Amino acid sequence: MNVPQKKKKKQLDKFLRVWDWIKIAFLLLGLICGGVLVYQWWDKKQKLEKLQARLKEIQELKDQAQRQYQLQDINFISTNDLVNSPDVRSFFSDLLKKYAEKFAKSRGLDTSQLPLKFEGLYLDKKTGNGYGEMGRCITETFIYPANQKIANISINRLYLLNKLGHDRYFTSSPKESEDYNYLDISFDKMIDTCSHEIAHYIQLVKYGKSSCESDLILRNGKYNEELAKEHEKWTKEIYQMIKQEFSEWERKWKEI
Ligand SMILES: [Zn+2]
Repeated sequence: MNVPQKKKKKQLDKFLRVWDWIKIAFLLLGLICGGVLVYQWWDKKQKLEKLQARLKEIQELKDQAQRQYQLQDINFISTNDLVNSPDVRSFFSDLLKKYAEKFAKSRGLDTSQLPLKFEGLYLDKKTGNGYGEMGRCITETFIYPANQKIANISINRLYLLNKLGHDRYFTSSPKESEDYNYLDISFDKMIDTCSHEIAHYIQLVKYGKSSCESDLILRNGKYNEELAKEHEKWTKEIYQMIKQEFSEWERKWKEI
């Protein structure tokens, strides 16, 4: 082998080595691209499966809502028996009086000038349109004996549907409308309404007047920002008080 031939061989070896590296680089690139494509396909498949599961879940919830909607009117007639049940009446009377007294005591207030009475469960046709109240607290004056005042708390009758297994009261058919509306009538919401009305009662005891955010929404001319703020704070505090004995009240409610 002469010298130029040796040089040529060296160059060829060098070229082959570079070519090997290029091949390895292409192979690696191919593997990476393949990996990315497989991952994208897998990710798309996962997302599609998740979406299908969510759609199925939404449909099931909608079907369940529709079944509740169809049952709510029939079950509402059944609440006729519960409205005058002495057990239902004493449930609300005991709960309202117990926490009204407890809260008044914690604030050093004397409630004897304005006794609290559970008036009953009322029917409000406006509630179905989303405008009604879930509870009321009204002062009543008796001319005899001697201008005695009392505070009457009453609760919306729709809550009785909760005893018949309803957590929501539909104001429109879930089947007919995509954005159907409902009122929360869960046990927890009922306790919140009771706390709200107790807070009104305590303000009536303390100031002889009361206000809440609903007055602003209803534009009834009774809105007082300061009282409404305090009312909101007291409602939360009373709710927390009841929450401590929540399971006991829930058990009583179920046993009626
Ligand atoms: Zn209110």
